[in-house]
Amino acid sequence: MTANVSIQSVTQTYGAALALDHVSLEIAAGEFVVLLGPSGCGKTTLLNLIGGFAEPVSGKILIGGKDMAGVGPSRRPTTTVFQDYALFPHMTLADNVGFGLRMRGVAKAERRAKAEEMLALVGLPGKADRRPHELSGGQRQRVALARALAVSPDVLLLDEPLGALDLKLRRAMQDELKAIQRRVGTTFVHVTHDQEEAMAIADRIVVMSAGKIADIGPPREVYLHPKSLFSAAFMGEINQIPVIQGQSPLGPVAQGTGTLLIRPEAIGLTGTLPLGPCRVEDAAFFGTYVRAHISPLAAPDLRLTVHLPQASSSAPGDILTLFATDHVILEA
Ligand code: ADP
Ligand code: MG
Repeated sequence: MTANVSIQSVTQTYGAALALDHVSLEIAAGEFVVLLGPSGCGKTTLLNLIGGFAEPVSGKILIGGKDMAGVGPSRRPTTTVFQDYALFPHMTLADNVGFGLRMRGVAKAERRAKAEEMLALVGLPGKADRRPHELSGGQRQRVALARALAVSPDVLLLDEPLGALDLKLRRAMQDELKAIQRRVGTTFVHVTHDQEEAMAIADRIVVMSAGKIADIGPPREVYLHPKSLFSAAFMGEINQIPVIQGQSPLGPVAQGTGTLLIRPEAIGLTGTLPLGPCRVEDAAFFGTYVRAHISPLAAPDLRLTVHLPQASSSAPGDILTLFATDHVILEA
């Protein structure tokens, strides 16, 4: 029903191109892990190696403590949900969901019962005799999820499963995916390039960049205390201010040399790190906040993005005395 996954120094190449560079990752049984990163960073490659669709050039993958080298996809305790969910159009939903069980020689009545149970789990009770063309995109993706869960995998692999859905439906499906994962307890490894999706569903986010892990941790940790400039910027907008031997354009901040990182929402009228009087360059109403660019008078070349309170009526030319609350210094 669930298993841990151990990825040990896995490298993968396509010809001369290095797609994964000595990636190591421990995933606990029952954990919801999201592989997050831009297109081409190696997410699908890593997922395919876990699923057995390819073998790594070097390194090892263990599932439930067993070395998976040479074990094909159908003999692994994994199933995969792809973005193009590829249901069989001529089959009923029950037959689609029961397909993997049929391949495993499970009798018809038992398949039917399991299919109905899985369809109910994904929010499609009583639809077993429908056909895929009668469903919306979101409903079809639920059927694909039911089909993958029907064979009771230890590890479910999901490659951008919500990518084809519109934003509103995607947000709703994220909540459901999380709830279903909690109910079944299966280990989920989910690939996306959408950092909001990652934060919505993950126990831990693995930020990937150019075939390597750039950061890893719970959403709050990766967002508030990024361990690399890449993950800091990929998780959302962030101000990057150079620090050289403890000096920043804003004054002394700390020892060492590196980058002072401040999220736009961590700048306001109170805080621990004074930015001094700042000139508002522009301001726009964004609904839940006012997004503005400011330049500290002490460092006029610095242009920082800030999220001011919704009620703020700041206009270009105004002078505000600002502070940062949360900030991180990444040493170079
Ligand atoms: P992601 O899923 O993060 O977008 P991929 O794992 O698909 O990334 O790809 C990682 C890198 O490997 C990319 O540079 C991509 O161009 C390359 N790549 C992926 N699949 C192949 C393939 N079948 N042949 C050659 N290069 C590939
Ligand atoms: Mg991909």
